[in-house]
Amino acid sequence: MPSNCKIVVDRFRCAYCGACVSVCKNDANELVETFLVIDESKCNCCKLCVKVCPMNALSVESSEG
Ligand code: SF4
Ligand code: SF4
Repeated sequence: MPSNCKIVVDRFRCAYCGACVSVCKNDANELVETFLVIDESKCNCCKLCVKVCPMNALSVESSEG
């Protein structure tokens, strides 16, 4: 599903706990070594991962238009 927003991760805040990976129903989040990768093509911007992140490392960047 195409979305008009983008989830951005603050790599200095992320503790790689995996909570956002578990909560994502679309498998859009993936921890690769010490990187959190967000697949924008899978993300529908439900923002669940933003809410669940204990480090406030995730935020929404709108890209309207
Ligand atoms: S929930 Fe937050 S701290 Fe945990 S892996 Fe995801 S972005 Fe990183
Ligand atoms: S906003 Fe929703 S679909 Fe997108 S990465 Fe986060 S949990 Fe997954």
